[in-house]
Parts: sequence; C-alpha cells; structure tokens
Amino acid sequence: METSIVKRRTSWIMKRLKDLIELGRTTFYLPEYQTAKSEEEILGVIVAKYLQWQGKGIITAFSYALEDANYHVLAKQVLKLLQNPTPFKSEVNAMSTNLGKASCGECEGSKTLEVTDGGMIRSRCLTCGFVENEWLFGDEPDYLNTLAQRYHVTVEQIREALKGKTKTPTEIQKTILQQLKTLNPFLEKLYGVKNIIAMADGRTLRLHTRNNGKAINIDIIYHRVPDLYEIKAYYVNAKTLECKPLKTVKDVFCDQTDTIIHEILHEHAGIPLRYIEP
Ligand SMILES: [Zn+2]
Repeated sequence: METSIVKRRTSWIMKRLKDLIELGRTTFYLPEYQTAKSEEEILGVIVAKYLQWQGKGIITAFSYALEDANYHVLAKQVLKLLQNPTPFKSEVNAMSTNLGKASCGECEGSKTLEVTDGGMIRSRCLTCGFVENEWLFGDEPDYLNTLAQRYHVTVEQIREALKGKTKTPTEIQKTILQQLKTLNPFLEKLYGVKNIIAMADGRTLRLHTRNNGKAINIDIIYHRVPDLYEIKAYYVNAKTLECKPLKTVKDVFCDQTDTIIHEILHEHAGIPLRYIEP
C-alpha cells in the first residue's frame, strides 16, 4: 500500500481512538475523577473491555504494543508470562474459562462465570468488572444447577470446566476416608478398592472397586447437618466406563457406612459375608 495512504489511515485511526478515549473518560468515571485519568489508563480499560476481560488476550495485546515500539526483549518477556507455570499463569487461565452470561445486578451489562484453579466459581461483569464468589468445592452441589439456569449453560458445562481444577481432597473427603479406615482398616483389600477418588463436588469420596470381574463405584457423600451420609453404588461398564445406578442408601450414620458398603458388595459383587459377632 502506498505510504501516503497508510499515513492517512493511521492518523484517522488515531483520531478515532482519541475520540473513544474521551468518550470512555466521561462514560466510565464519575465527573470528579474524569480529569485526573490519564489516556493510558482509559485506553487500558477500553482494551480490557474490548477483549472481554480475557487475561490471555490482554497480555497478547500488551506484548504486541511493545513489539510495535521495538521493545523486542520486553515483549518476549511479557509473552513468556503466559507460558511459565507461575501463579500468574493460573490467574490468566482462570480468566479464560468463561461460562454463559447473565445480566449484572450492578450495572446494565452482562456477567459471566469463570472457574479458578482452586475450583472456585466466580462471576465477573464484562462491563463494570464486578466480581463475586459463587461456589467453591465442598459447597452445596445443587447450587450448580441454579448457576447453570441463571447463566444459560448446562450443569455438564460447569462440571467440565471444574474438571481437573482440584486434585487435592477437601477436609471433608479426607475425613470420610479417615473414618472409613477407622471402621475397617482393611477395607481396601477386603473390598477390592482399586482407586479412591476425591470427587469434584468436594464432599463425595468414591471407592472404585473390582471384585469377581465386577467393577462397582461406591460414592460416600457427606451431608453437613446432621452428620449424615448418603451411599450410592454404581455398576461400571468396563469398556465404556459408563456408570449405571445400582443402589442408593440415604441417611446413613458414620458408623454404619462400612456395614452398608460391605452389604452392597456382598449382594452385587459376591464378596464373602463378614463374620458377625453373635
Ligand atoms: Zn456490571
């Protein structure tokens, strides 16, 4: 393209951007703060909004701005922030998982859900930036349904976003395992437990068992008050890993958990009945 055309267009873009910055000044800030705001600050806010608060996009834009100004080393350093496994990276990645939209209560804009690496679901307004914590691992799982409805996504989409975000068991899950092992120190061997999984809801511990060629998952779900559990057993299809509900026992007291698991595995996987003291 001819140099004169490029020059003319560039100066037109600058003029428009200047207008947009001034429009931003009177739109985003209260009158008493407007004059104190620098162009850089307002432009930064516009860029953030334009890129829908996506950390990754903001960093990319930032690095190309540096590149254009010939700060090549600095530009590379900034891009590197996205690759290194630093807390910074996890924050940026968290911001790139946006789920659905709902209207913001603070402004006219719309907000979206994002999932942090720690398994926290936050809502963030894409217009005013208002952030609110919505759900954390271990919170009432039913609330995910409420969030799904409100943000017009499916619960599966939310669960998918949560997947792999937390591999460490919560205190609840650690306690469930501890209690089970107190009741039955040999449960892993006796019940053919191949894997113990801290489930994504933070309050369910899953025993993946295999006995006599039958794979059965047993979920022990903690209900906060009063110290009650629910036990759900599923048949697992060895090929598809699909779970088919087998049995659910509600309102289980802690000291009954081991007996119920034993009974289920006796009935459905043929493990020998335990010696019961007369
Ligand atoms: Zn808002």
